[in-house]
Amino acid sequence: MIVVLKANPDPEQLDNLTTWLTSQFITIHSSLGINNLVLGLVGDTSVLDIDLIKSLDIVEDVKRIREPYKNANRKFHPDDLIVDVGGARIGGGHFMICAGPCSIETEEQMNAVACGVRDGGATLLRGGAFKPRTSPYSFQGLGGNGIELLIKAKKAAGLPVVTEIMEISQLQYFDDVDMIQVGARNMQNFQLLKELGYVDKPVLLKRGLANTIEELLMSAEYIMAGGNENVVLCERGIRTFETATRNTLDISAIPVLKKKTHLPVMVDPSHASGIADMVKPLALAATVAGADGLMIEVHNDPPRALCDGAQSLTPEKFADVARAVLAVRPYAMTAEELSQ
Ligand code: PEP
Ligand code: MN
Repeated sequence: MIVVLKANPDPEQLDNLTTWLTSQFITIHSSLGINNLVLGLVGDTSVLDIDLIKSLDIVEDVKRIREPYKNANRKFHPDDLIVDVGGARIGGGHFMICAGPCSIETEEQMNAVACGVRDGGATLLRGGAFKPRTSPYSFQGLGGNGIELLIKAKKAAGLPVVTEIMEISQLQYFDDVDMIQVGARNMQNFQLLKELGYVDKPVLLKRGLANTIEELLMSAEYIMAGGNENVVLCERGIRTFETATRNTLDISAIPVLKKKTHLPVMVDPSHASGIADMVKPLALAATVAGADGLMIEVHNDPPRALCDGAQSLTPEKFADVARAVLAVRPYAMTAEELSQ
């Protein structure tokens, strides 16, 4: 529920209202708009008499909002969130291109890809060390040793890095990592999300294969409720009846999310399609539809990649995609247009 107060509310009446709401086990998030103070009420607001609150002298308007997320809700945070990832920014007009291999394999591979994607226009380097593979017999990633190689590549290329966490005990390896990725398969690992709420690093939260946009926002809410407000969302394709592509890129998720939340929205055309040749058209579509960034898998030798080679671009092809993306950026829908 949102309570919009009249300008310059009487302090005593305001105090009475907040004391009464608190006694009803309601938590109050207040934010100051241009003219009015807005109270966001969190808790079981069904116990509150909306007409009674509306009738108070200091109250301009009361709205019940259906969305159960408050921290991630644009209604409470009209301005776009800008997330700083080790100096690279995303959101509020800042566009981020994240690129790198699905899995960290060797020092040579990581350094070659890191420098390749940097030269091609990437602002954030990716690489998986803890890999959530469908089969237990597939390459599971190099774990902590992989993160060491990622940090070497970070230094070699001068790019900040993002890598995936699968459980909170792995956080010990993340000291020099700039952004923590929660993969699609862990989007509803609520215990992990809660723990990440207490971590002082931005989180890249990928949409689950079969999760709704509202569920994605509720998962962001888990992280933000713990105090970590630096969450970036990522649409990476969802399961549909279509089999021509690995997943189906839900382009609509971009305008829907931009309306509902102030959090930056990234798109991963690599996992969405599973096919290297489709990365460029999907990346262009996502950019023009208003995405704040892209995550693209790049490998120096895709046919020999230990994971996701079929969808990986060479550094040269990646540079071509990045160039094309930056060329269409002036035609992209802005957050302002999308959030109206
Ligand atoms: C990844 O980015 O390496 C990954 C495993 O992606 P997703 O969680 O979207 O499948
Ligand atoms: Mn992958």
